[in-house]
Amino acid sequence: MKNTLVRYQGGGYDGCIWEWNYAYFDEQGKFHDMYSSGSMGRPEESQVRAIIAELEGEDAPELFNLSLQPDIDRLNEINAESVMSISQWLEKEIGYELEVQCDDCKTYVDVLDIQLTDLRKEGGIVYSHHGKVCTLCFSEKQCDGCNEYNPGELKTIEDEGQYCADGCYDEKMRELAECCTPS
Ligand SMILES: [Zn+2]
Ligand SMILES: [Zn+2]
Repeated sequence: MKNTLVRYQGGGYDGCIWEWNYAYFDEQGKFHDMYSSGSMGRPEESQVRAIIAELEGEDAPELFNLSLQPDIDRLNEINAESVMSISQWLEKEIGYELEVQCDDCKTYVDVLDIQLTDLRKEGGIVYSHHGKVCTLCFSEKQCDGCNEYNPGELKTIEDEGQYCADGCYDEKMRELAECCTPS
């Protein structure tokens, strides 16, 4: 197994909650424990190889061959924050450059040129990003009011910039109306 990322169900605190864990076989086939946690974490190569061989169906580890474009495309769909972390880890620990796909223009760019977007609450207490876009798309669709990325929902105000269709646009218009109204 070479240049292959393994995603499996690790974690397992108090026997119930699991989370994604990651391992990586580099271009020479050498094993790396990328992230393992809890009682189902597998920091050893033999443990990861065992679950690849044994587990089937939904519980089976997912394999991504990073030399194959379809696998890289598939990886980019899993979760914005995980893809970022994986790419950063590979670059830092192995010196391997894995470009990350912009959700908007679909271009693959260096991880440094990616910005996380779409911060949402999940499970009550945890916030996480659900989107990732390249800096070009980000600046093109960034609201000048709240500075957030807003795909396709911006209204332009001449000489002022572009604003979110709801809140920021209305607010800016009100502000402009106030400052220009002779009292
Ligand atoms: Zn883009
Ligand atoms: Zn805004």
